[in-house]
Amino acid sequence: MPIVEIDNISKSFGSNHVLKGVSFAVERGQVIAVIGRSGSGKSTMLRCINGLETIDSGSIVVAGHTLTARQEHLLDLRKDVGMVFQSYNLFPHLTVEENVMLAPRIVKKVPDVQGRATALRVLKQVGLDHKREAYPEQLSGGQQQRVAIARSLAMEPQVMLFDEVTSALDPELTQEVLKVMEELAQAGMTMLLVTHEMEFARRMADVTVFMHQGLVWESGPSEAFFSNPQTPEARQFVGAGA
Ligand code: ADP
Ligand code: MG
Repeated sequence: MPIVEIDNISKSFGSNHVLKGVSFAVERGQVIAVIGRSGSGKSTMLRCINGLETIDSGSIVVAGHTLTARQEHLLDLRKDVGMVFQSYNLFPHLTVEENVMLAPRIVKKVPDVQGRATALRVLKQVGLDHKREAYPEQLSGGQQQRVAIARSLAMEPQVMLFDEVTSALDPELTQEVLKVMEELAQAGMTMLLVTHEMEFARRMADVTVFMHQGLVWESGPSEAFFSNPQTPEARQFVGAGA
């Protein structure tokens, strides 16, 4: 059974029909890259998956939680689905460790002894255990984004969603964040990532989904997709032809 199953979802903002019947599935342990032009609905789709937006119709089943137009149990859902954004949104007045400990403490009532041990483990995972006591402003953008990833991991999610997490970073810092994501994927994490990093998508993602005008325009195994896109729109987007 897929861990994420999106079935014919639609979403409008007023008269703007943003998702027009999007369907696809993610198997446990898979890495899926979502690509497409700005405005094609990528972020809206991710936000629907963790309940930040409600869908108008269709259904989403994620980690055993069913999301419909009427949403309930969002807290339970968000324990299982981590999301990382382009802006890291760390709390500036909290240390790195405190930032990472916060959600488990509040949402899962994890005691501090355990929370601190988890924080240490996930900070090691992103290579920042030595920055435990630092404040966000003392870190580079790449380091802050790695803390944001650690903060999500601390909730021990079953699925991680990444929305253009490297778009605000310089190339060098982008690479350190991509490396952390690559290690996560290799460790077996199920990941759905919206990205502009085509090489990364091609190399890392099992499947690439190309969104266009609110639809899954084309999707397939990444290597096949990138080496031989089938639609003119995808060809033009990946720059392989047109
Ligand atoms: P992408 O991530 O592919 O660039 P988005 O999902 O962010 O696309 O946006 C798709 C469309 O939905 C855009 O036209 C955008 O203006 C619109 N949109 C996204 N979020 C909102 C919102 N909260 N309210 C109104 N319109 C929105
Ligand atoms: Mg977006």
